[in-house]
Amino acid sequence: MSSLQCWQQLFGQSLSPLTPVHHPALQKHHLSLSIKRDDLLHPSISGNKWRKLKYVLRQAVSDRATGLLSFGGAWSNHLHALAAAGHALGLPTIGMVRGEPEYATNPTLSDARAWGMTLEFVDRQTYRRRHDSDFLADIARRHPGFYLIPEGGSCPLALPGMAELWQTLPPCDELLVPVASGGTLAGLLSARPAGTRITGYAVLKGKEWLSGTICDLFAPAATDNGWQLRLEHHGGGYAKCSATDRQAIAGLSSTLGVPLEPVYSGKAMLGLFRDIEAGFYPPGSRLVFVHTGGLQGARAQISAKRSGQAK
Ligand SMILES: *Cc1c(COP(=O)(O)O)cnc(C)c1O
Repeated sequence: MSSLQCWQQLFGQSLSPLTPVHHPALQKHHLSLSIKRDDLLHPSISGNKWRKLKYVLRQAVSDRATGLLSFGGAWSNHLHALAAAGHALGLPTIGMVRGEPEYATNPTLSDARAWGMTLEFVDRQTYRRRHDSDFLADIARRHPGFYLIPEGGSCPLALPGMAELWQTLPPCDELLVPVASGGTLAGLLSARPAGTRITGYAVLKGKEWLSGTICDLFAPAATDNGWQLRLEHHGGGYAKCSATDRQAIAGLSSTLGVPLEPVYSGKAMLGLFRDIEAGFYPPGSRLVFVHTGGLQGARAQISAKRSGQAK
C-alpha cells in the first residue's frame, strides 16, 4: 500500500458518539449537556491529536517526507499519537522529549518505542528552544527529509482537521473544550457556526499569552467575540492536580458515566461544573463538551511523582 493509501485508511472516517449526560447541577440550572466522545475516535491515536495530525500528515506524505519529528513531554499524548500514526503510515518517527532517559520505560514512551519511535532526550534549557529557527534548522540538517511538527501538533495545518468536528454536531449554544497550546480551540473557531459560542478551559496557567497564541494560529480570532477562555481553573498549573480535585474528577466521571483523566478532560470538566454551579451559563443553554481523549496518559497515575516531573 502507498503512504497515501495508508493515510486514507487511517484518517478516512471520523466517527465518535455524542452522548447526553445527566447530573443534578444540570437540572438545577436548566442546562443540557452532551459529550462529544472524541476519546473514542481511534483506539491508539488520542482524540484531538487524531484531528490535528490529519492534514499535517497528509502534507508530510504528499511532500514525500522520509520521517516525522516532533516535541513533547514524557507523557505527551501528541508524541504517543505521532508514533502510532507514523507506524501506520510506514514512516519513521523521532520524538524529542523534555526530560531524562529514565522516562523511556513509562507507559507512554514504551508504546511510542514499540511503534518504532526514536527518542531523543533533551534538558529543559534545550527544549525551550523548540520554536527557534536556528535550532530547528540544525535539527533539519541532522535529519534530512524529516517533516518537523511543532509541540502538540499545533500549526496552521492542524486547523482544518479540528474544524471537521462541527460536521458531526447538532446545533448547540456552547461548545466547551480543554485548552493547552490552543490549536484545538483555534481549529474549532475557524469553522464556528454563528449561533454557537466556544469556551476554552485552560489547563495551564495561560493568562494573556494564551489568547495571543490562539490569534497567532487563527488571526480572525482577534476580532471574533464568540469565544472566551476560562483561565482560573488550571488547578495550580499544567498536570498539577490536588487530591481534592482528583476526587471531584473521579466523582464527576462516575456520575456522568464517562472516563476522565486529571490533566485535560477531567480538569476542564471540573472547571465547567464549577462554572455551572456558579450560574455562569444562562438557563436553557445546550452545552456540548468535547472529550479530547488523553486517557493513555492517565495510565501513569502516580500523582505526586507525576506532577513533580511534568513541565
Ligand atoms: C493536547 C491535548 C489537549 C490540548 O489541545 P491544544 O490544541 O494543545 O490546546 C487537550 N486534551 C487532550 C487530551 C490533549 O492530549
